Amino acid sequence: MTSTIVMSPAVVENPTAPALPVRRRMDVTGVNPLRARPRVQELLYRELLTPADLIAPILVQPDHRDPARYRYLPGAVSISEVAGHAQQLRSVGVRACKILVYIEHRTPHAEDALNPDNLMIAAIHAVRNAVPDMVIATEVCGCAWTDSGECVLLGSRGRTAIDATYELMARMAVLHAQAGVDIVGPAAVLDGSVQATRFELDEAGFTDVGVAPSVIFDSALFDIYKSAMNTDPGRGNRRGFQIDPSQLGQALDQAERWIDEGADSVLVQPAMTSIDLLTRLRGVIRAPLIAFSTSGEDQLFATAPIAVQLEYARALKRAGADLIMTYGALRLARALEDGQ
Ligand SMILES: [Zn+2]
Repeated sequence: MTSTIVMSPAVVENPTAPALPVRRRMDVTGVNPLRARPRVQELLYRELLTPADLIAPILVQPDHRDPARYRYLPGAVSISEVAGHAQQLRSVGVRACKILVYIEHRTPHAEDALNPDNLMIAAIHAVRNAVPDMVIATEVCGCAWTDSGECVLLGSRGRTAIDATYELMARMAVLHAQAGVDIVGPAAVLDGSVQATRFELDEAGFTDVGVAPSVIFDSALFDIYKSAMNTDPGRGNRRGFQIDPSQLGQALDQAERWIDEGADSVLVQPAMTSIDLLTRLRGVIRAPLIAFSTSGEDQLFATAPIAVQLEYARALKRAGADLIMTYGALRLARALEDGQ
């Protein structure tokens, strides 16, 4: 393509001045002034990721469970290791964690979820005592506690017992709040669960405890977590509550519905297959968006250089996430501290 010479307006107005050729921007030398000089690059540089952007899942295990069954998942620790693990996270600048638990005694009605002496409550106390300023989030969901592995309680003929499920989640939320959590996360993608949880927290005087529900695409990227934590329902998926990955519209609607129900922030998972969702949500939701990089994603990154996972986390921020929940929180935070 031949380049076109354009006369500048000044030349046109003054016919006696020498005619200066002006190149079009696209025809210029190939040197980009925004990237050519290190000092200009440094002026423009913004660090997208800091340890304070990370939320670390802590997968709490009973002390007597064989570590070989969960050690391959970063963040999986026995209850007696929880305090030390939380201190380690905080020492590298991670300020938030999400506690999930492996429960051995599971029943159809998830009674242990409401037992004030359960493993979840013990873990909340352990983190709170070890790191008083740690932001603690929990999940309020049936799947760790039901013998079916379902997030919801089942009624007659295997149907979802909706009111009983609301009650379970709401009462779990209050129990966790009493133990000192800052944020609870209804995770069953069950419409009405945010409203029910919010109402019960307010009634109990915990108006300052946040509710952070999830928008979840059905995905094989949860499988490692499900098998390590033994929360896989017999049928393989979550009763149709999780959203088919082809249905972006449903995911957008779900997030807006959560905000209408009173959510303070929204978790999007799995992060890796939700980049478009994050970006679209960023345009319509002003509440904090949390991208949850799931267990399967962490496994994919396990053999890659840490720089690759850092790039990925930065890309999630750029796509619209305010915070990133990741099993790699500890190693990412260490790498950031090392200046990577
Ligand atoms: Zn669940």
